[in-house]
Amino acid sequence: MDKVILRPHREESVLRYHPWVFSGAIAQTVGHPQEGDLVGVEAADGRMLACGHYQIGSIAVRILSFDEDPTRPDFWVRMLGRAYRLREAYGLVSSATTNCYRLVHGEGDGLPGLIVDYYNGVCVLQAHSVGMFRAKGAICAALQEVYGPSLKAVYDKSSGTAPFKAGLDLVDGYLWRAPGFEADEQAVLENGKQFLVNWREGQKTGFFLDQRENRARVGQLAAGRRVLNLFCYTGGFSIYALAGGAAHVDSVDSSQRAMDLVDRNVALNGFGAEQHTSYCADAIDFVKNAPEGAYDLIIVDPPAFAKHRGALKNALRAYQRLNAAAIAKVASGGFVFTFSCSQVVDKEAFALAVFSAAAETGRSVRILDRLNQPADHSVNIYHPEGEYLKGLLLYVE
Ligand code: SAH
Repeated sequence: MDKVILRPHREESVLRYHPWVFSGAIAQTVGHPQEGDLVGVEAADGRMLACGHYQIGSIAVRILSFDEDPTRPDFWVRMLGRAYRLREAYGLVSSATTNCYRLVHGEGDGLPGLIVDYYNGVCVLQAHSVGMFRAKGAICAALQEVYGPSLKAVYDKSSGTAPFKAGLDLVDGYLWRAPGFEADEQAVLENGKQFLVNWREGQKTGFFLDQRENRARVGQLAAGRRVLNLFCYTGGFSIYALAGGAAHVDSVDSSQRAMDLVDRNVALNGFGAEQHTSYCADAIDFVKNAPEGAYDLIIVDPPAFAKHRGALKNALRAYQRLNAAAIAKVASGGFVFTFSCSQVVDKEAFALAVFSAAAETGRSVRILDRLNQPADHSVNIYHPEGEYLKGLLLYVE
């Protein structure tokens, strides 16, 4: 195995189990590793520290192991088995009311660069690194072993996430399908609600599994309320609000394909068109044009406004504008559930943007709760960067 040798004193973060080696920490590369190859990580004094996927770029090595040998044939089964057992321990694997969850959350599961979402027997894999993209055959075989005969398919959805590199054939498709399984879409259960998930055509892996617990909170507070679900995608929050007894739900997304699925999900869960209205529209315009006091509960769950640090300032302004519009419009005694999934916007910065938004409106606003990503989007304590979803439950008088 080729190796990288770190500059003196640059082993500290690796000794603290941080899973990334930045290119600036490397003094020397021994051998000629290809992108995606496994390389050893050695301290300047010759201690072998770790081993991971090599890639050209600011993160030069994504660490897969601090002790065991990732070339062992059972490596993937053992790692996916660990990820599976965490979800099992948390009650997600054998739940009667939920059959979809994130099985692998990258660094959170010790597998930097890999996402695997599980949809009622279908695993959708997303590689974010060359090494994971190259390993997808081995990962697929390990998924078959972990799930056994209950597995229906493994779909690779890496074309939008794997770095484009010469020689990588970035075409999405099935890595494996059980005989007779032909569908690109199926219904899943989340907390007893049904959702159609289309992994081929949907955004990300097909569904936003990270909002499961926050959707349940909306359901608990929706009774009798007029609800506005902004950036609704396939209507996750809308269905929970309806099931929780909302008086009416308006759902807004700029994607017509998403709105088509909202309508199908509303019907699938047995709600009538008189309880729900779909709007394919810009969410910011929609809430700005809404009459004051028209809604008693507003959900604000936009896409990541900042994908990198350079976009932070503009993103914070955008969060402030959007939240000011929602806070200004919600009825007195109403709730606003507001979220940010931008990893570079931390909790404090987001709270500050929402604080500035509230101040702009001059209304009395209280924070009732702070919301997070759920356990299956686990955060490795040695990699706090894995925490990305944050939200606030506001009460507006
Ligand atoms: N709340 C959703 C997930 C939201 S993801 C859920 O629970 O599943 C963000 C969504 O915002 C995407 O569906 C995207 O189509 C939509 N979107 C992006 N920009 C938008 C805009 N300006 N107006 C309305 N929707 C937008």
